[in-house]
Amino acid sequence: MAKVFYDQDVNWDVMKGKKVAVVGYGSQGHAHALNLKDSGVDVVVGLYKGSQSVETARKAGLEVKSVAEAVAEADVTMVLIPDEKQADVYKTEIAPHLKSGSALAFAHGFNVHFKQIVPPADVDVFMVAPKGPGHLVRRTFAEGGGVPDVFAVEQDATGKCFDVALAYARGIGGTRAGVIQTTFQEETETDLFGEQAVLCGGICQLITNGFETLCEAGYQPEIAYFECFHEMKLIVDLMYEGGMAKMRKSISDTAEYGDYTAGPKVVTQDSKKAMQQVLKDIQDGTFAKDWLLENKAGGRAHFLAMRRQHAEHPLEKVGSKLRGMMSWLHTHQED
Ligand code: NDP
Ligand code: MG
Ligand code: MG
Repeated sequence: MAKVFYDQDVNWDVMKGKKVAVVGYGSQGHAHALNLKDSGVDVVVGLYKGSQSVETARKAGLEVKSVAEAVAEADVTMVLIPDEKQADVYKTEIAPHLKSGSALAFAHGFNVHFKQIVPPADVDVFMVAPKGPGHLVRRTFAEGGGVPDVFAVEQDATGKCFDVALAYARGIGGTRAGVIQTTFQEETETDLFGEQAVLCGGICQLITNGFETLCEAGYQPEIAYFECFHEMKLIVDLMYEGGMAKMRKSISDTAEYGDYTAGPKVVTQDSKKAMQQVLKDIQDGTFAKDWLLENKAGGRAHFLAMRRQHAEHPLEKVGSKLRGMMSWLHTHQED
């Protein structure tokens, strides 16, 4: 089992007198900047000229500068702009201004692990990645709690990188809940695998196949939507709260029996072999190469075509109609 670090394990002194530049003020950026500030850290937000986030950050009481200026005065630079944009911004606005002996930090390992960003040898490189969206990171902190983080040290130039990374995690509230050490490689590969094989790719395809199976057998799409899509949240919420056991306690014995007998027939050993191939493509860089190429050379043509095609699926049409009947969904704000 992984070791879990809490507030009392943190050497907070390493943050004393340090200035942290938070580059980007989106989902993660606003949460890191505000939580660090409330923890007593000197924070500056780095944004580009004309960014719509400038006003929002200033209104929240934060100092905002250009990325270059913020980095130039920072002891810790946390990069929280979209992953696809990080390599360019790093090259033009971060690398030329990074102070020797300062730390460069990330909330996801992709760019460093796949060598899109290669930091100089004289800076520390670490990751602190909250296991939740930014709005949850901010909200739980404001309520006195925290969202668990994973953290990693990729390059320890000063001999203090581990302490700085843990202190950063405390600054955003992570060590209130507990943080776990990982590596850039493990975080990147498992994150990509989870979203592709299970969380996004796996579940969307599972739902779609279930919906299509019922519709093609002549059942009404509305009913198929309720049974294969809408109820997914109820089931997942139960598993999230209390494991598969809690979910299985809540469903009928009939449902539980079908769960054990049909599940392995649908998601088979062949599916597991496919998952192993997906993992291999992630590990050997095939997926990263394809995605980077899609962004660079292809103008995202293939990606945008797939987005369009999936948005037009009958499942989405009927879903949109049915969700319109569910008044409680209309006021719900996504994080
Ligand atoms: P967002 O898409 O929310 O960040 C957008 C922010 O970056 C906006 O403030 C945007 O400004 C700004 N920005 C865009 N381009 C530039 C630029 N060239 N220079 C300066 N600022 C720029 O990102 P996330 O918070 O989702 O992701 C940030 C990192 O955190 C990623 O590495 C991601 O993998 C990681 N992460 C994200 C999680 C999440 O829940 N979202 C969870 C854990 C990790 P504007 O408003 O003008 O567009
Ligand atoms: Mg992910
Ligand atoms: Mg049912």
